[in-house]
Order: sequence, then structure tokens, then C-alpha cells
Amino acid sequence: MKKIVCLGGGYGNLRIIQKLLPKLPKDYSITLIDRNPYQGVKTEYYALAAGTKSEKEVRVQFPKNDAVELLFGKVTHIDLSGKFITLEDENIHYDYLVIGLGCIDKYHEIPGAEAHTYGIQTLNDSRETFNAIGALKPNASVGIVGAGLSGIEIASELREARSDLKIKLFDRGDRILPMYPVRLSNYVKTWFTDNDVEIIPYSNIVKVEPHKVYNNEDSHDLDICIWTAGVQPVEVVRNLPVEFGVGGRVVLNQYHQIPDYEDAFVVGDCAALTHAPSAQVAESQGEQIADVLQILMKGDPLPETMPDIKLKGVLGSLGSKEGFAYLKERTVTGRIARMLKSGVLWMYKLGGK
Ligand SMILES: Cc1cc2nc3c(=O)[nH]c(=O)nc-3n(C[C@H](O)[C@H](O)[C@H](O)COP(=O)(O)OP(=O)(O)OC[C@H]3O[C@@H](n4cnc5c(N)ncnc54)[C@H](O)[C@@H]3O)c2cc1C
Repeated sequence: MKKIVCLGGGYGNLRIIQKLLPKLPKDYSITLIDRNPYQGVKTEYYALAAGTKSEKEVRVQFPKNDAVELLFGKVTHIDLSGKFITLEDENIHYDYLVIGLGCIDKYHEIPGAEAHTYGIQTLNDSRETFNAIGALKPNASVGIVGAGLSGIEIASELREARSDLKIKLFDRGDRILPMYPVRLSNYVKTWFTDNDVEIIPYSNIVKVEPHKVYNNEDSHDLDICIWTAGVQPVEVVRNLPVEFGVGGRVVLNQYHQIPDYEDAFVVGDCAALTHAPSAQVAESQGEQIADVLQILMKGDPLPETMPDIKLKGVLGSLGSKEGFAYLKERTVTGRIARMLKSGVLWMYKLGGK
């Protein structure tokens, strides 16, 4: 029996498995390895941290299928030359490998940032952030560093969860979400102004101490600080003997294989792609990897060129009632955008993507 080993049960690998299963050749099996016995729906970790969703609501069961072996534990080493991975103390050999282990916070070597901030990049980080927020006294101050999608979502969700808190959102640029139309940025900014969240533009955090951040020449006293200002692949991927591109992500060929190790693929946040990492990119790339694997398993030649990865747009929430979307170059704001986001999540949990 030949073995496809999928490391990480996130958006990328689950899409690959979903697409491979109906046509999986009889002489192949899939082994899915994750440190958790369920998928943590990462796009909802902001709600887990803010306390508006329970952990049960951000979990999805892994596929149950005779062709899929599920193994749980921490992957500590990937040996691309020997074609095996190490799960805790056990070595597991593969014929094909898909690395989809996701990313963690990146602190850009800012003194104190790792030690004195909370995160929402992993389930464990989100649980710790939830506990820290829960322990805050009335009228406490919370700083959120980074006003990308996850920073905006945690800031707005937290506002909805705790009207007493003073919330400061440190934004690097002059306007929120500068890659989208001004109308979208203005909508988000107005929501924050109306809901008493202070946006601090042109932020450059240079140092973090317990209960204090230093921003350019100013300092801000905070009860807790949440970090959403950059990501990098997990350590076991950063240790690979491969070429790394923007953001420390693994450089791949057009078939999403690691050059020189063509039986190994990388999917999702660990892969250097032309698009910024997102669940949507991980799933679209996953579809292509499944296609490539099907061709390779049949022994057929690969196409000369692979199609571009197509994206539908972006969806973001501002609490439970409002949101924003940029779809097919159109800006959608308000309740409709929020309903679209809830609908996407609902479909995902149903497995009907
Ligand atoms: C708050 C927040 C909101 C977001 N909102 C959106 C959104 O609205 N839309 C969007 O498209 N994207 C969004 N994203 C980004 C999206 O969540 C990621 O891009 C996506 O999850 C990446 O998928 P992936 O398959 O690479 O890995 P992940 O989904 O991160 O899965 C990686 C898996 O690997 C496992 N793992 C990691 N290390 C190990 C190890 N050493 N051993 C064993 N298992 C391990 C983890 O447990 C995890 O299950 C958001 C992210 C955050 C944090």
C-alpha cells in the first residue's frame, strides 16, 4: 500500500483529502496528522478569544473514511531526503507528503513582543487570550497591534463582548485595509469611531513591556496587548533545508512541489504563493494539489502549465451584525456582508463548500 501523508488538518489539507477520496486508487491510503483530534476553524479564533463563541463552535470533525488513517500528535521533524516525518517519537514514511501546518505569530524581533502579548493564531493561543480577557477588570485597556483582517475582527468582536473596555487598535498605515477601496476603509473606520474603538494610525511598535507598549515616540499603558502584526510558518517548516520566499514561506514549483523533492508538496500558509495567505488561497491551492496527485498516481504526464489560483474576494466581520466584503471588485458593507460571512462558515461546517 502506498501512502499519502498530510501534515496538518487545516483548510488546505482537508480540501485535498475531500477532493482525493472519491477517486483514490485502491493501492493508496491517506494518513492525516494533526496535533488536535479535530480541525480548529482558524478563521473564527477571534470569536473564541473574545468569548462570543465556545470552543465547540470552532471545531470541525475530521473525515471518517476507511482510506484515511488519523494520527494525533506533534510533528517534530520532516526528512525530505529520507521520505519520513517524525510524529513525537515515531518515524512515519511516505510516498507523497503534503505539508499544511499553517503559521504562527511573527514578532519582527521587537523586544518584549513575544513575551508580553497574547495571540489568536493557534487554538491554544486563542484559549489563553480568552482567559486573559475574561480576567480583565471593568474599564481595563486592551491594545491590539496590527489592523489587518484578524486585528479588525478581534477588535470589533471584543467591543461587542465587552462594552466597558478601552480598546486601542494600532494600525501601521494611514488608512485601515489600504489594499481595498477607500469606501471599504471608511466604512470600517466609521464603525470603529461609532463604537468607541480608538484607531492609532502610522503605528510602529518598537518595544513591549508588561502592561505597556512603545509606539514611535509614545508609550501606552495597557492591561493586555494582543498581537496580530504578522505571521510566519511553524518552526518545523522553517527548519526545512529548502528555499524560502516572502514571509519565510517555502518556494515551490508550479505544481506546488518542493523543487528537488517532488514527492513533497506544501499547501496553505506555509507556501510562497503570489496571493497573501488565507483560507481561501489554501483551499484553491489544495484543489490544484489534489489534481496533480491524481495525475501522478495514474502515472500520466503533468500539464505544461497550471492555471492561476482564482479567488472570490474577502469577507470580514465587525461584530455579529455588521461586516464588509470585497467581491468581484465590488464593495459590500453592513448586514448583508455579515450574513455572507456567516453563510460561508455554515457551509464549511456542513462540509458543503
Ligand atoms: C483570526 C483570523 C481570522 C481569519 N479570517 C480569515 C478569513 O475570513 N478568510 C480567509 O480566507 N482566511 C482567514 N484567516 C486566515 C486563515 O485562517 C489561514 O490562512 C488558513 O487557516 C491557513 O490554512 P492552512 O491549511 O495553511 O493551515 P491551518 O488552517 O492553520 O491548519 C494548520 C494545522 O496544522 C496543525 N499543526 C501545526 N503545527 C503542527 C505540528 N507541529 N504538529 C501537528 N499539527 C500541527 C494545526 O493544529 C492546524 O490544524 C484568518 C486567520 C485568523 C487568525
